[in-house]
Amino acid sequence: MSGKTILPGATLGVMGGGQLGRMFVQAAQSLGYFTAVLDADATSPAGLVAHYHIAADYLDEQGLAQLMQRCEAITTEFENVPAGALVTLGAHRRVAPGADAVAICQNRAAEKAEFQRCGVPCAPHALINTPERLAAVPDTLLPGILKTVRLGYDGKGQARVTDRAALAAAWDQLGQVPCVLEQLLPLALELSVLVARGASGAAVLLPVQQNLHRDGILAVTQVPAPDATPAQQQAASEAALALASAMDYVGVLCVEFFVLADGRLVANEMAPRPHNSGHWSIDGSDVSQFELQVRTLTGLPLTTPRQHSAAVMLNLLGDLWWPQGAGSAEQTPPWAELLALPGVHLHLYGKANARPGRKMGHLTVTAADPAQARSVALQAAALLGLPAF
Ligand code: ATP
Ligand code: MG
Repeated sequence: MSGKTILPGATLGVMGGGQLGRMFVQAAQSLGYFTAVLDADATSPAGLVAHYHIAADYLDEQGLAQLMQRCEAITTEFENVPAGALVTLGAHRRVAPGADAVAICQNRAAEKAEFQRCGVPCAPHALINTPERLAAVPDTLLPGILKTVRLGYDGKGQARVTDRAALAAAWDQLGQVPCVLEQLLPLALELSVLVARGASGAAVLLPVQQNLHRDGILAVTQVPAPDATPAQQQAASEAALALASAMDYVGVLCVEFFVLADGRLVANEMAPRPHNSGHWSIDGSDVSQFELQVRTLTGLPLTTPRQHSAAVMLNLLGDLWWPQGAGSAEQTPPWAELLALPGVHLHLYGKANARPGRKMGHLTVTAADPAQARSVALQAAALLGLPAF
């Protein structure tokens, strides 16, 4: 991808209408771009706020043609957009990230091969795509986590297995689709790094983020990362830059890492788009991950983001609407009480139906220092009935 800078006033497109697309659209609009979203759902979070919503499937030729007609450049908010759709679009329009990079991030086996090619350590693992390979799995990978090679997210498409019988049963349960078995690692911490890289090869980073997952879903992100050493943060940042450069990546890339009990850093997975763990940057950084996505897509300059506030982000899942559990009465979370706390920034995605596990919104607490941000975030968590962290 090269060529001219696409200036405000042009129309930018996004494949996928979820909350990441919505926040991309909002960033693009504030810079003066028009926006178009392709998503089959008539009430998608991004479609609701974009200038144009094309209600079509990702591979619908007419829909793709309409998107190209409207837009000068197109990005994606969902890593499972079929790579074929991006190839079609890329033949006629600027598309970033490109189909090749998205294809790597869509496939856990290809992703791990990319980590190894770049000298970035990852979990010991084996590909299981035949009964023979299942039988040949080394004992050292057990206990482990079996993950589908494709289409996993928020801990879906995964099973923890302790022995060979459980492994075989889990592979059956997952429909014997291609999977990787990863050794279950002793995690001390989880980190993520967002890198934004332009077509010229220039790249900038957001500060390292520390993430807490509950039930396989991101629950809390803290920036600065309270428990990561400077050396771990440096290694994570360098690995993210090396991966973006090796893939000749254009756009915003998130790399998730584990810090193991012995302090070693290993890469977990990549997302070819902004990431839930980077949402704090809307309120805590002078350039957000979504503005970086706009800048990389259009060829606008990349400036190094400056974190101006300590930040803690809490994910707001649909469970909050059902404090007494499924089957009980639906309740609106205490928005007014939350907004009475200093430095609370509430982001709701416009989803009509709250369901357990569904990402309905997030809130970011910003403050002058990390202790204050954490203290207010703990008050917010208590108001919401969420556990402390
Ligand atoms: P998402 O796309 O939402 O980030 P995902 O469904 O792709 O998640 P992973 O990131 O692979 O899933 O795993 C989800 C969580 O499970 C991790 O953040 C980590 O807490 C835990 N986990 C995954 N792999 C391992 C491992 N090999 N050892 C220990 N814990 C793991
Ligand atoms: Mg993950």
